[in-house]
Amino acid sequence: MNKRPSFPARIDFSAGQAKPGKPAPAPNAVSQGLGMDSGAVRMNMVRKLAGQGITDAAVLSAMGLIERHRFVDSALVNQAYEDTSLPIGLGQTISKPGVVARMAELLRQGVSGPLGRVLEIGTGCGYQAAVLSQLATEVYSIERLRGLHEKARVNLRHLRLANLHLLFGDGMLGYPRGAPYAAIIAAAGGEAVPQAWIDQLAVGGRIVAPVHRGPTAPGQQALLVIDKTPQGLRQTLLEAVHFVPIKSGVA
Ligand code: SAH
Repeated sequence: MNKRPSFPARIDFSAGQAKPGKPAPAPNAVSQGLGMDSGAVRMNMVRKLAGQGITDAAVLSAMGLIERHRFVDSALVNQAYEDTSLPIGLGQTISKPGVVARMAELLRQGVSGPLGRVLEIGTGCGYQAAVLSQLATEVYSIERLRGLHEKARVNLRHLRLANLHLLFGDGMLGYPRGAPYAAIIAAAGGEAVPQAWIDQLAVGGRIVAPVHRGPTAPGQQALLVIDKTPQGLRQTLLEAVHFVPIKSGVA
């Protein structure tokens, strides 16, 4: 297990927000009925994640720290800690907490030592990027829809995460300037993993991405893990998942 000794260390508490177990008033949540005690609701979510088999303490800690209700529209705040995906606008969705935790755990399991630079394809509302920022040295998160790229910027402002870099562009091409990456994680599913991601992955690194399972299972996706070993690529297909489709170009 690769444990970070100083974890969690990256959230700036100086604004008096986001303290685990003792959340400061979040006007959005309070006015929508989640109440002052979002910490307790979040801890309940973390307990459920542990019950579903997430064992990585650093991942559970990050899930307990990042306030998911701040990343969804006010009308959905009361569902923010249920294990469900929710609409975030422009036809996209925030992933289920269970899937975010599972993928983060897979990333950490695949890389020896602390996670270095991570590339996330599909920033969406920015929630998973914030979770990853607690687990990696640097996070580069790329989004192809300008509206969501900007929404994520607003959603993330209160956290002031110096190690999280939001990029607007086509993630199918990766982001060569941040390469090589210790890990690459995709929040949108395609037919196959683009060669650019494999090229930009460090030896010893891991990709976790939803992919279509192929012609025998049309429309179905599964999580694919690709490890880049000194001997070559090792691919493992895991459980079924449901992600929005990956698209090329920007809009
Ligand atoms: N991790 C996000 C999940 C967002 S859903 C969250 O926590 O909210 C997936 C996102 O991937 C969508 O916002 C979609 O616009 C984006 N996406 C799809 N194809 C992309 C591409 N080629 N490059 C960058 N982003 C892409």
